[in-house]
Amino acid sequence: MAPPAAPLAHRMREPTPALPPPPRVDLWLHEIGDWLMRNQRAIAAVQWSVVGLYLLLLIVPVLAPLPEPGARIWNDVVLFAQFVLWGLWWPLVLLSMVLVGRAWCGLLCPEGTITEAVSSRSRGRGIPLWMRWSGWPFVVFAVTTIYGQMISVYHYPSSALLILGASTSGAIITGLLWGRNKRVWCRFLCPVNGVFGVLAKLAPLHFRVDNAAWDRWNKPRGATPVVNCAPLVPMRTMKGASACHMCGRCSSYRDAITLARRSPNREIVEVAGAEPKPVETVLILFGLLGIAAAAFHWPDSELYLWGKLQLAGFLLRHDWLWPLQGAPWWLLTHHPERGDVMTLLDGAVLLGYIVVIAAAIGGFAALCLALAARSIGHWSTRRFHHLVQAMIPVAACGVLLGLSRMTVWLLHDNGLAIAGLMPLRAALLGGALLWSLWLGWRIIGRYSQRRWRKLAAMLPFTSAVAVSGAVWARLFWSF
Ligand code: SF4
Repeated sequence: MAPPAAPLAHRMREPTPALPPPPRVDLWLHEIGDWLMRNQRAIAAVQWSVVGLYLLLLIVPVLAPLPEPGARIWNDVVLFAQFVLWGLWWPLVLLSMVLVGRAWCGLLCPEGTITEAVSSRSRGRGIPLWMRWSGWPFVVFAVTTIYGQMISVYHYPSSALLILGASTSGAIITGLLWGRNKRVWCRFLCPVNGVFGVLAKLAPLHFRVDNAAWDRWNKPRGATPVVNCAPLVPMRTMKGASACHMCGRCSSYRDAITLARRSPNREIVEVAGAEPKPVETVLILFGLLGIAAAAFHWPDSELYLWGKLQLAGFLLRHDWLWPLQGAPWWLLTHHPERGDVMTLLDGAVLLGYIVVIAAAIGGFAALCLALAARSIGHWSTRRFHHLVQAMIPVAACGVLLGLSRMTVWLLHDNGLAIAGLMPLRAALLGGALLWSLWLGWRIIGRYSQRRWRKLAAMLPFTSAVAVSGAVWARLFWSF
């Protein structure tokens, strides 16, 4: 027989089990998100300071003479700007994507600040269809990277001003024409939007949306709060950190959005497979693993040199001398006073080298990953795109190590050597390879539970990771 129910009054006095308080770190993150939301004026002040610094770093070195032999970063404005811009700023921005998502975009980026500011006086046109083309993230990244190599963007202030100035001008024009109070440039055309979006998937922080809380939310009396998400992220359905600029404006919106931690694997393993984006596949395989790697490799490449010598011999034998002439500095590097001139032939071979190497690396990795996807079961394009996402750690690490070479060279030229550099590089690259392998294993495990299928898929997947890692390792070690 069931025991008699307790009297109602007694039952009402029974304490309801309390939920444990959230960990302190979650409360702190929530507070930080709300602080960002409440302090947009202070953030704007910082943003405009960064705009000022950015303009100084771009313009002042162009007005100064190129460094004399023996000049140092602390006594030559050109070298100083080169070190700050390419040795510190740029590598740290990329690193920040992996550590804190796209906070750089939302809180500091000068182009984002400028385009949003001019957008307040925009003509407010609707975003045209051509701008919504999904291939832009790859095309603008590829063109900027290759063009940057052709005019030696890291070495000459005029080249840096040309490329970064063109990008900033594009941001201003876009802001003046399309959208209102928005960052249309950042969302669709910024040359690094695609790369930043890919790297931010590894970030352990994001603005999390609680869909149930969003739906439960009761509109307060009076004016409805409005959030201006400048990069046009659909907040209600936001699942990852890829598109979000971490500006904090939507923190606590509808009691549903909060800055939160997450596993760095989560977005790649659990989210990326649901909405595959072919452009990200092309960007990771042919852009980051292909074009970016080739752009770092060509100055020391024997293949590049061999191709150039063969073609030069052919041209000389046929008395075709015009391709052996230089071109204006804004088309190809042209600084005869420093003995640094690229001929039309150099430019053509450079272009060919980058395209061929990118196609070879990206094509090989794509083939291996397609084999891995097929080994799990019947062919599925979605599965293939999902597996490609597991290559992000090795791609991100390679690009970061490649960029940091500039930092190391500049420090070394100024008598500042970094101790333990090679073991550090080996540890970072090795860690990234293992991370990619782990992600691949987890993704494969989502599609098949059979051990032999998983192992069969890991074989080609491991080949893709190993070859990509070897390409980056070749930058630092001869083998
Ligand atoms: S979703 Fe939009 S408003 Fe919210 S933090 Fe991201 S960029 Fe800012």
